[in-house]
Amino acid sequence: MRTASKIDRIAVPSLLRELCAVFNAHGKQVFLVGGAVRDTLRGAEYADWDLASDARPEDIMCMFPAVIPTGIKHGTVTIRHKKHSFEVTTLRTDGRYADGRHPDSVSYTSSIEEDLGRRDFTINAIAAILPEGHVIDPFRGRRDIEKKLIRCVGRAEDRLNEDGLRALRALRFASQLGFDIDGELLSAIKARPSMISPVSIERVKVEFDKIVASKKPSSALLRMEQCGLLRLVLPELLRCRGVQQKGYHRFDVLTHSLLACDYAARSDYKHTVRLAALFHDLGKPASAKCGDNGVWTFHNHELLSAEITRAVMTRLRYPNAEIDETVHLVREHMFNYTDSWSAGAVRRFVRRVGEKNLQALFDLRRSDSFGMLGTPPPPGLLLDFRNRIDSVLEAGRVLSRKDLAVSGVDLMEAGIAAGRKMGLILDSLLEAVIEDPEMNSREKLLEMAASLSERMG
Ligand code: ATP
Ligand code: MG
Repeated sequence: MRTASKIDRIAVPSLLRELCAVFNAHGKQVFLVGGAVRDTLRGAEYADWDLASDARPEDIMCMFPAVIPTGIKHGTVTIRHKKHSFEVTTLRTDGRYADGRHPDSVSYTSSIEEDLGRRDFTINAIAAILPEGHVIDPFRGRRDIEKKLIRCVGRAEDRLNEDGLRALRALRFASQLGFDIDGELLSAIKARPSMISPVSIERVKVEFDKIVASKKPSSALLRMEQCGLLRLVLPELLRCRGVQQKGYHRFDVLTHSLLACDYAARSDYKHTVRLAALFHDLGKPASAKCGDNGVWTFHNHELLSAEITRAVMTRLRYPNAEIDETVHLVREHMFNYTDSWSAGAVRRFVRRVGEKNLQALFDLRRSDSFGMLGTPPPPGLLLDFRNRIDSVLEAGRVLSRKDLAVSGVDLMEAGIAAGRKMGLILDSLLEAVIEDPEMNSREKLLEMAASLSERMG
C-alpha cells in the first residue's frame, strides 16, 4: 500500500459521484470529509459518509427529494439516497466558545480550508474534492496518519478549551485506530481534565460507547485514568483501583475488569457483554471484607455490582433494554456449576438467566476468567455445563408458566378465583414441574392446585 502522505487522490464510489452531479448542476461544490477520508487514507473500511458543501441547508432540501434536517442549527442535513445516508454540513467557521461545548455562533464560508480549520484533529481535517477525489490537507493530516499520531489542528489547549469533548475523542481515536497521542495534546488534557464537565452526558456516552466497541478498550480507559478523566466520567470504576483480591486473582479489581473487557472486545463478543465485563465487579470495593486469615472476600458483590451498573448506565442515558440486559448479566455472573447439580437446579438456572442470555453469560464468564491471570480461559471451560443444559432441556423444556399443562382458566374452572392466590399457586406448580417434568400433566397439576388452594384457605 502507498504511504498516506503520497496519496493525492482517492477513489470515489459511484454513489458519491451521482450526488456530486446534483450539487454541481446547482453550481455548488461538495467534499468528502471526516472519517471516510481518514479511513480511506489508512487503507481501512469506513462506516459512514460525512460531506461538506457550500450549499446552504435550505438549498440542499430543495435539491434532493429525501432530506432530513438532522442538525439544521449547525448547518447539517442528511440526504437519503438509494438506501444510504449522507450527512452534509455547510462549510462553516465556528465563533467563540464561551461555554466549553458549543460555539456562540457559526458563520458560513465558501472556503473548505477554513472549514477544515475548525475541526478537531489533523487526521480528521482532510477533504477530498468530489467527484475526482483530489485531496486537500492543509494541516498535514496525511503525515500524522502515517506517523499514527492524534494531533490537534492548532494549539491543543485552545482547541480543548473550546470543546472539552475533544479530550475524550482524542483517547477514543487513539484506542480505535491504535494511534499515539501527541505530547502537547496529552499534556493539555492532563493539565485540565475538568474541561469535560460542561459537556452533555449524551455526547460523552457516544464516545465512551465507541471506546468499549474498539479493539482494546483498556488503552483509552487507562489513559482516561492517567489524565484524570476517569475520575470525572466513571468514578465507580476508578474506585476499583488498588482493591486487592488475593487467591485466584493476580490483579487488583480495576486491572482485572479492564482485562476482562479487552478479552470480550478481542473475542468480538456483543456490546452488552463488553459492558458487563467492565462493570461486573463494581460492587467489590464496597463489599470487601478481610478475614482473620488475611484473605479478602466479596460476598454478594454481584448484587451491589448490578445496582451500581444500573446507576452508571442510567446516568449515561443508555436505553432501558441495554441497561436491563447488562445489569442481568452482571447480577448472574457468579454461578458456580458442579456436576452435583440436580436436573431441577439446572432448569431453575436456565429459567432465571433466560435461555436467550446463556451465550452472553458464558462469554462474560470466559472474559472474567481471562481477567484473573491474563491468560486465555481453558478451552473446555463451561463445556460440561453447556452439555448438561442441552441434555436436561431435551428431557423437559418447561421454563415458564405458559408451558404448564394447566392455565389460569383451568384453575378458575376448578373453583380457584383469579387473583394473588392463583398467581402463587401457578408459581408453585411451575416450581414443581421445573423440579420434576413428570409432574406436567393436567391431572397431577389440578390435584396439586386443589390441595394448595385448600391449605392456603
Ligand atoms: P467516526 O468513524 O467515528 O464516524 P469521524 O471522524 O467521522 O469518525 P464524526 O463524529 O462522525 O467522526 O465527525 C465527523 C467529522 O466532524 C470529524 O472527522 C471531525 O472533522 C469533525 N468533528 C466531529 N466532532 C468534532 C468536535 N467535537 N470538534 C471538532 N470537530 C469535530
Ligand atoms: Mg463520521
